[in-house]
Amino acid sequence: MIHSGEFVIEADKNTGLAKGTSSIQATATDFLFDERLDLQGYVVERKFQFAVLETHALTFESKPNPVTDIPTHCPLCAHPVERILAGHPAYAAPGRFDIYDCGGCDTRFAWPMGTSSAIYEQIYRVAEQLPGYDRYERLRAAVAASDSPLDLLADREDVYWGVREALRPLLASGRRPRILEIGSGMGYLSFALHRAGCDIVGIDHSDVAVAKATATFGPLFRVAPAESLAASGLGGFDAVVSTEVIEHLQDPHGFVRDAASLLAPGGMLVLTTPNMDLYPRDLAWHTDPAPVHLWWFSKTSLRRIAWDCGLQPTFIDYSAHHGRSREPARTSKPQSLDEAGNLVYRDSAFNTFARTLIARFPGLSPLITRIFLARTGRQFARERFGRESLSMCAVLRADAAPPAIP
Ligand SMILES: [Zn+2]
Repeated sequence: MIHSGEFVIEADKNTGLAKGTSSIQATATDFLFDERLDLQGYVVERKFQFAVLETHALTFESKPNPVTDIPTHCPLCAHPVERILAGHPAYAAPGRFDIYDCGGCDTRFAWPMGTSSAIYEQIYRVAEQLPGYDRYERLRAAVAASDSPLDLLADREDVYWGVREALRPLLASGRRPRILEIGSGMGYLSFALHRAGCDIVGIDHSDVAVAKATATFGPLFRVAPAESLAASGLGGFDAVVSTEVIEHLQDPHGFVRDAASLLAPGGMLVLTTPNMDLYPRDLAWHTDPAPVHLWWFSKTSLRRIAWDCGLQPTFIDYSAHHGRSREPARTSKPQSLDEAGNLVYRDSAFNTFARTLIARFPGLSPLITRIFLARTGRQFARERFGRESLSMCAVLRADAAPPAIP
């Protein structure tokens, strides 16, 4: 506890680090010091953590803490950024994070931008009831039982519809394309591509996921984190596919560069990610909370990343897809977990009810799906979404013609 005190602080304009002395009266052994300094127009805003040894006079020197450093510029494009929301609840309580907006590349990101495997362990413990994650197990079972698994996936979710569209020329080429899936998870997309005539390798950072995928679909998979692709010894792929992965990663540029380095000449990188372009800009964050999703991308964000990596982006047009989704009870709001790790339901009442019904009576699934389709029918989706979808699907190529300038 701090009783009283006064600090004398000098901050280094270049490093932002502070040095100083204090005459503080304190009994705690540890405390956080939250400061804001304005030195000749240079604003230093940092939190320092240091020990106080029951003393009334001490000297201290701050250490930069990468978790609490305040961003001033966009990690993607170096444009100045603005904090648009403070204290957004984290995916798992009790964490909080801030939302920053970059007007330069039209990107939102969460800060502090840390992530850990602990959050995914928490998620996978309750994954079957967790909207967004609950579908992975369902899709694994459905794909294993399907004669035409790629079409099944494309019918069920916009993400896979986009991937099938992107790969259509390769699938129709008459030869056996070599494809790498990064973040293969339960393995169903890799298997569906294998069944569609591709020579496939699926990689995932989770050995549990790889073991499950291999047990269901055979030896198509191996363990490799997305962050060490360059060292994986893989290469020469006609396409590298990665669905709903890039928004989880701290270094999207590094990921795209590494993934592109695994392509054969003329190859394509197919990426899907939640689509910020669908939402009004006054909605600060409407995707999974950090530390699960660290980024919320627009098409402009992905163009920027692609161009920085020497690639040319195009986007799949979803107008032919709308109203086709057969996936019932799609999550309508991002989810989160409370202090005990239990799911906090924030889904719509309709979706929650439908999900409960399907869990108890799987035989009702086709009927509920029909009701869902009637509710969010094709016409409605077309009018609302146009060429967009909830996720966007970007195709990045090294050799594509640059976009025409009108
Ligand atoms: Zn930016």
